[in-house]
Amino acid sequence: MLIDFTDKGLFCARGQFYIDPWQAVDKAIITHAHSDHAKWGSKYYLCHHYTKPILQLRLGNNNYETIEWNEPIYMNGVKISLHPAGHIIGSSQVRVEYNGEVWVVSGDYKTENDGISGQFEPVTCHTFITESTFGLPIYHWQLQEVQFDAMRKWIALNKEQGRTSLLLAYSLGKAQRVIKNLASSVDHVFVHGAVYNTQQAFINAGWHFPETEKVTADISKELFHQNLVVAPGSAADSPWIKKMQPVSVGVCSGWMQVRGNVRRKNIDAGFALSDHADWHGLLEAVKATGASKVYVTHGFQAPFSRFLNENGIEAAEVKTAFGNEEEEETLPDVAGEIDTTTDNQEI
Ligand SMILES: [Zn+2]
Ligand SMILES: [Zn+2]
Repeated sequence: MLIDFTDKGLFCARGQFYIDPWQAVDKAIITHAHSDHAKWGSKYYLCHHYTKPILQLRLGNNNYETIEWNEPIYMNGVKISLHPAGHIIGSSQVRVEYNGEVWVVSGDYKTENDGISGQFEPVTCHTFITESTFGLPIYHWQLQEVQFDAMRKWIALNKEQGRTSLLLAYSLGKAQRVIKNLASSVDHVFVHGAVYNTQQAFINAGWHFPETEKVTADISKELFHQNLVVAPGSAADSPWIKKMQPVSVGVCSGWMQVRGNVRRKNIDAGFALSDHADWHGLLEAVKATGASKVYVTHGFQAPFSRFLNENGIEAAEVKTAFGNEEEEETLPDVAGEIDTTTDNQEI
């Protein structure tokens, strides 16, 4: 096996490196900066150069090496390259080649181009390790524009009725998408500190985003009611929401495709906008690699790998220690993975 499944995560013994290890190691290749993929304490990190500012924000200063997509480097004779995964800014698949054998680790990915994360690139390989966050046939996304239109209508209705539009969106990934697409519908976009700090890190690295303002105590109720607030799910139960009442809470997440999730979680509007591939996206991605062996991790491993096996693609399920950021994002009562960047003080 070119890549082994160890208790610290995916390990290439020949190259002596891990991919998204869940413990501190000597050499870590990081697919993207979500906290279930990027852990603190490794001696060396290799990532795409867009990922570095967020790793610095979340993990502090470390020994980071960055490369561009499709720019191979070698470790102990093993050829390594990164390829766009389309999940969040900087997110990458990792291609590993030795002696003519090619493995690709997808990390998290989505196949629809969101305009900021790069277009997912199918990479031909012998063995593909794929995520399966939404690996059930019930997950079938509409085009993102449909969701953004629904959000714009929801904001307009809230304005009319004098309610704050509070959109809960994961601070790394989803928040950048909604801000980019919705900022022109309002005069002000107010954001939680975690969203602000993440966006600021990208801006410092040369990215451009519509202007946002941190939520502060001196913003009037009336101003909230006419505008949009973007915050991570964990912020929904915070006392600062009181200042915005009455408030309509919308959640941006693939899980919102299941109607019960909208009712159960005490939210007013659910928008099934995801940073992961849906069932068809996963299947297309797997087929496009031409892989003769597929390992399925990070989600609905069992049903997705069973389906692949029944359809002539040899697949096996791999249990990982990955958490699920999409889950955290949708639970207003659960603290997400924003600890390192949360700024409850001011907001
Ligand atoms: Zn992720
Ligand atoms: Zn993930």
